[in-house]
Amino acid sequence: MHHKTIAELATGLERKEFSSLELTRACLERITRLDTRLNCFVTVTEETALAQAQAADERIARGAASALTGVPIAQKDIFCTKGVRTSCGSRMLDNFISPYDASVVERFNAAGAVMLGKLNMDEFAMGSSNETSFYGPVKNPWNTSTVPGGSSGGSAASIAARLTPGATGTDTGGSIRQPAAFCGITGIKPTYGRVSRWGMIAFASSLDQAGPMARTAEDCAIMLQAMAGFDERDSTCVDRPVPDYRAALGNSLEGLRIGLPTEFFGEGLDPAIASLIQDAVDEYKRLGATVKEISLPNMHLSAPAYYVVAPAECSSNLARFDGVRFGHRCENPADLADLYTRSRGEGFGAEVKRRILIGTYALSAGYYDAYYLKAQKIRRLISEDFRRAFEEVDVIMGPTAPSVAFEFGAKSADPIAMYLSDIYTIAVNLAGLPGMSVPVGFSNGLPVGMQIIGSYFSEDRLLNVAHRYQQATDWHTRAPAGIAD
Ligand code: GLN
Repeated sequence: MHHKTIAELATGLERKEFSSLELTRACLERITRLDTRLNCFVTVTEETALAQAQAADERIARGAASALTGVPIAQKDIFCTKGVRTSCGSRMLDNFISPYDASVVERFNAAGAVMLGKLNMDEFAMGSSNETSFYGPVKNPWNTSTVPGGSSGGSAASIAARLTPGATGTDTGGSIRQPAAFCGITGIKPTYGRVSRWGMIAFASSLDQAGPMARTAEDCAIMLQAMAGFDERDSTCVDRPVPDYRAALGNSLEGLRIGLPTEFFGEGLDPAIASLIQDAVDEYKRLGATVKEISLPNMHLSAPAYYVVAPAECSSNLARFDGVRFGHRCENPADLADLYTRSRGEGFGAEVKRRILIGTYALSAGYYDAYYLKAQKIRRLISEDFRRAFEEVDVIMGPTAPSVAFEFGAKSADPIAMYLSDIYTIAVNLAGLPGMSVPVGFSNGLPVGMQIIGSYFSEDRLLNVAHRYQQATDWHTRAPAGIAD
């Protein structure tokens, strides 16, 4: 059962081949048996999962099921879940029980999905390897001495290990796409504003976006259908109809114009990855696409601009964790200043502190124009590069990450090396565009992902482009031996 996709599970549930209760029990059994090795889950919500499964079975029996009714999924621990600990991977929120559900969680509940639990992540979604989590790193099921990517590493690893058929992720600079690539699964970061951020703990508000992670593009389409749509509680959520993502999956790729940016294939890219991307592009040519070299001349400015904007916004967003209203509070504070200093000093890990310091500095009087304002101008240049590119092509393809999953500790002592893991994904967030990662092969036994970028609100097209490739290839069906066979 654990090898079935969400689409297959939904069909099985509808045909009563198995019940949601059986399915949920099977997932919980795998989590109990395997997750001690992987550390994907921060919290397993067994009791509520079984209750939701029972309710889903009743709903299916009434003939009132949606495509996700009775299907188990898991939530990244950045989404607030009523009555359930929402840690954001941080000691700061280790004791935080959310009084409400995030919009995304509400939507999955309304669809009748079953929540298995909350998934491990880099602390406050800051990281590319899951090594910044207060709960210890997640292991990559393909090779447990390598990282699963981050920050949605628990999401990606749990799907690759077949502990859950789907999970939510969030992506501020690559946190859905890069772990999807490292773990050999499929994930999409939607256009900024497509999915509500309400109840999703903020890291960098102008970049954060939630999206689905699963094994196939079809499953991502089913999940995104439930997640996307207007929400008045998020003022940046766009009021625009949500297309039928599944209906578009089968569209022909005849005449699809693919752009390959020169800047994505230069120095720093593992040649084995470059060659697998080329193979995937050749497959697209067989499917009817045309290919053209394009240029995104300001790409090299994306990481420097991101590492001003993201820390600046994080320093403001994380000011609310002050030991007063919720979260960690130090013991016996001497006075108010001591309460703030020690609560924050104890509650946050090293990477979060580094970002708050950088951000506070970049926003301070006298430096604002030199850093934050300058970064915003670069952001505009990057968006313009993409706008020009999308006049000539329909989608842009390239690597998701410059390397395959690396060993634990390989980059944790060097923040810049770690930051460069997102060199191909960050520009997409700065521009607010949708981007996907799909498995396209293996190098040294580790999965390789290809990134597909589209223009604003072209999620239907991206899912279609990924789905047609997955119908012609079987990389997305491979499972890590010893864990998911
Ligand atoms: N790795 C990037 C960072 O550390 C992106 C994280 C994310 O997308 N949440 O900021």
